[in-house]
Amino acid sequence: MHFIEIDLRLLAQSPLYIGTGHGFGGILDGTVVKDAYRVGDQLRPRVCLPGSTLKGRLRHYFQHARQLLPHLSRPHNERTCRQQLSAQCCAECRVFGSKLRQGQFRFPDAPLLPELTTLDGNALTVLQITQRTGTRLSRSRRVVKEKHLYTIEAATEVLAFKTTINGEMGLATLNTDALNAPEVVLMLLACRLMERIGGFKTVGLGKVKTTVEQVRVNGQASLNGQEDVDGRLRSLWVEGSENP
Ligand SMILES: [Zn+2]
Repeated sequence: MHFIEIDLRLLAQSPLYIGTGHGFGGILDGTVVKDAYRVGDQLRPRVCLPGSTLKGRLRHYFQHARQLLPHLSRPHNERTCRQQLSAQCCAECRVFGSKLRQGQFRFPDAPLLPELTTLDGNALTVLQITQRTGTRLSRSRRVVKEKHLYTIEAATEVLAFKTTINGEMGLATLNTDALNAPEVVLMLLACRLMERIGGFKTVGLGKVKTTVEQVRVNGQASLNGQEDVDGRLRSLWVEGSENP
């Protein structure tokens, strides 16, 4: 087994709407997800990106990555993947799991960068949230499309988050470079491609810049920084196009 860790940094490039879900009766619950952090004996709210949101978005970009490097994995197919043993599933099922089995990767929540939480509590409260008001078409009415007004909270574009996604992988031989495993290559490309997260994307929210800070294999730093990762991806790209 190889243990892979990928340190990610997400820099907001526009306000982000990471909602807590929809309220009852189609009324939008317009607040952003927050966790709490401790300052002295006080708990303060802090905007955070839930792991489940990250996982969903990365899965979307992973599918895109697989289309760009199709020699690395067959596409996901609900029926054939269901009949396979775990090791023979498509890379997407191995990484993210399916209805029948757990994925090999974990996606912890991404809190704010620690340096941002050292700001004065009031400053952070003001800094991290902005209000957005607008109208959008109601999707629930098919005949008459009605515009309705919404006001939502959004995380501001000055925020940055970090997390470490990690996973265990069995490779055919221990001598195989874990960084060449399709799961890892496609995941690194998915991170590279992830430039949108959260809701209200059509009104310009949710732009994000994702960078890989470090990749560790069994605790050893194997790639340092996005340039290193990009170099790696570029070489695979060239190899991939030579041997489709
Ligand atoms: Zn699959």
